[in-house]
Amino acid sequence: MKVFIDGKFYDEAKAKVSVLDHGLLYGDGVFEGIRAYNGRVFKLKEHIDRLFYSAKAILMTLPMSHAELMKATVDTIRKNKLRDGYVRLVVTRGVGTLGLNPRSCKNPSVIIIAGKIQVYPPELYAKGMDIVTVPTTRNLHSAVNPAIKSLNYLNNILAKIEANNAGVEEAVMLNAEGFVAECTADNIFIIKNGDLMTPPLSAGALYGITRGTVMDIASQSGIKVSEPTLTRYDLFNADECFLTGTGAEIMPVVKIDGRVIGNGKPGLLTRKLVEKYHALTNSSGEPI
Ligand code: PMP
Repeated sequence: MKVFIDGKFYDEAKAKVSVLDHGLLYGDGVFEGIRAYNGRVFKLKEHIDRLFYSAKAILMTLPMSHAELMKATVDTIRKNKLRDGYVRLVVTRGVGTLGLNPRSCKNPSVIIIAGKIQVYPPELYAKGMDIVTVPTTRNLHSAVNPAIKSLNYLNNILAKIEANNAGVEEAVMLNAEGFVAECTADNIFIIKNGDLMTPPLSAGALYGITRGTVMDIASQSGIKVSEPTLTRYDLFNADECFLTGTGAEIMPVVKIDGRVIGNGKPGLLTRKLVEKYHALTNSSGEPI
């Protein structure tokens, strides 16, 4: 594997960052998870846009332009001879002193890793997933805003540990007010009486690129899409439920906190959205 670091490619074994990088010391930085399908990078512009928004929110000036980051991402995939794969684009605050003040970090570092990903066991896509709500709530907007895709993922990791402890693959995270926010690395959707719903960003959801794509596909298919405040009750009584994420793609959910969703099988509308999503991922994007 060849890894891009600050303009150069390194063999995996030599792809190293300093122990004084504040990305490592404090989780100070931002990232994106991007996917390539069939020789094209899906929604690349949207991912780089979001990287810029995250960087702005943490007052970090990216050391490369939008166009340069797009090109470096495509180059890294090409260099690794991938046509289908997953890219992790990371920008750390850079090397600084041992104190946390980002003023000591003069040069943010850009790291691009291109490989493969399988977030969930493949059989779950056919069977549907069992998930639980967990005690750890999603970060407050007034603390670490959940819209920032920062290197500080402990909030989500704690929730994932709680899902692991409960013997399931994924957790539903509520916000501090008890409304549904999202899952640890995926957005959540329900379908009720033919309408598609997902929590608003103000509930603590990340502005997911897959979320946006699925909302567009659904609208274009004549499905009513809305972003209401949702509670666990709404999840339990949904006809269908699914998760979305670049890595996860679209994962049907068939049980939440022991309540069977719909008939306990991936729903019809969910399956139609999966089909349309893959038709799009296989036919659009930035050529590699
Ligand atoms: N929520 C969180 C917390 C995430 O980290 C992610 C990305 N894995 C998502 C939702 C899904 O976002 P996207 O569709 O842009 O990958």
